[in-house]
Amino acid sequence: MQGKQQYLETLHTAYGQYFEIDSMLYEQKTPQWHLSIFENRQMGRVMALNGVIQTTERDEFVYHEMLTHVPILAHGAARKVLIIGGGDGGMLREVVKHQDIDTITMVEIDGAVVDMCKQYLPQHSAGAFDDPRVNLVIADGLAFVRDCQDKFDVIISDCTDPVGPGEVLFSSEFYAGCKRCLSEKGIFVAQNGVPFMQLDEVQDTVRRMSTYVKDCWFYQTAVPTYVGGSMVFAWATDDVHARQLPLALLQERFQRAAIATRYYTPALHQASFALPAYVEQAVASAMTVAR
Ligand code: SAM
Repeated sequence: MQGKQQYLETLHTAYGQYFEIDSMLYEQKTPQWHLSIFENRQMGRVMALNGVIQTTERDEFVYHEMLTHVPILAHGAARKVLIIGGGDGGMLREVVKHQDIDTITMVEIDGAVVDMCKQYLPQHSAGAFDDPRVNLVIADGLAFVRDCQDKFDVIISDCTDPVGPGEVLFSSEFYAGCKRCLSEKGIFVAQNGVPFMQLDEVQDTVRRMSTYVKDCWFYQTAVPTYVGGSMVFAWATDDVHARQLPLALLQERFQRAAIATRYYTPALHQASFALPAYVEQAVASAMTVAR
């Protein structure tokens, strides 16, 4: 039997992962990307942009739960949330679970990603785009925060790696814009890569972000298809206590939120801010340069 076609991820040059393609569901050039969505019997349906795996049905819940419930429950009184990127809708699905949130603005640069993920990855958004609190804006995230006069309690940058249109979402100008759009105790979080493979991206974020906020740190979780070990999320806020809340308070807020999760727990939330020594050292050395 002829071997199955394989999808080779090209994020890293000398190391990577492949997926057997059981069936290619969609492969097109969209306004911003080369978008592929295919079936893989191990990971379910997989979506990739320009050769880089973005999300899979099997492990997306880890990433989407940790990038939403950690900042929202740490904040404790979030009413307005901004998502930058997030075209597959998984982030939105988790944010709309929080009934106390009044408005959710999502700024995605490529409407085709939203449309195709609604069609081929329906469980990602699970109807979240129809929530009356959601305002979907098809635009560049940098341009949006540059012109935005609104304030948000939580800003989530669910971006690609710093490639193509995603590059600006790791720029000092973007971080300055997000800080300006944060309310007083607002929290900014962003996907910031796998430090074992992309430690320079962590240091770049520290150098660019730490001048705008009182607390610039990271928290971690392991998402199987983001290869190379645990990934980190950037954490930026002027509320220096927000990442050191007692477990009992996180448990109480989680209970009150009454949301179902498959990965997030208050204990994991609290533990996720503990980083490996080599990451702490990289953050510290970048911080000295920044200050
Ligand atoms: N979970 C993925 C990861 O960690 O790499 C990210 C998933 S999500 C598909 C990334 C989204 O960011 C894509 O839909 C992409 O179109 C969007 N995006 C990239 N650059 C953008 C920009 N400058 N403004 C708004 N959205 C952007």
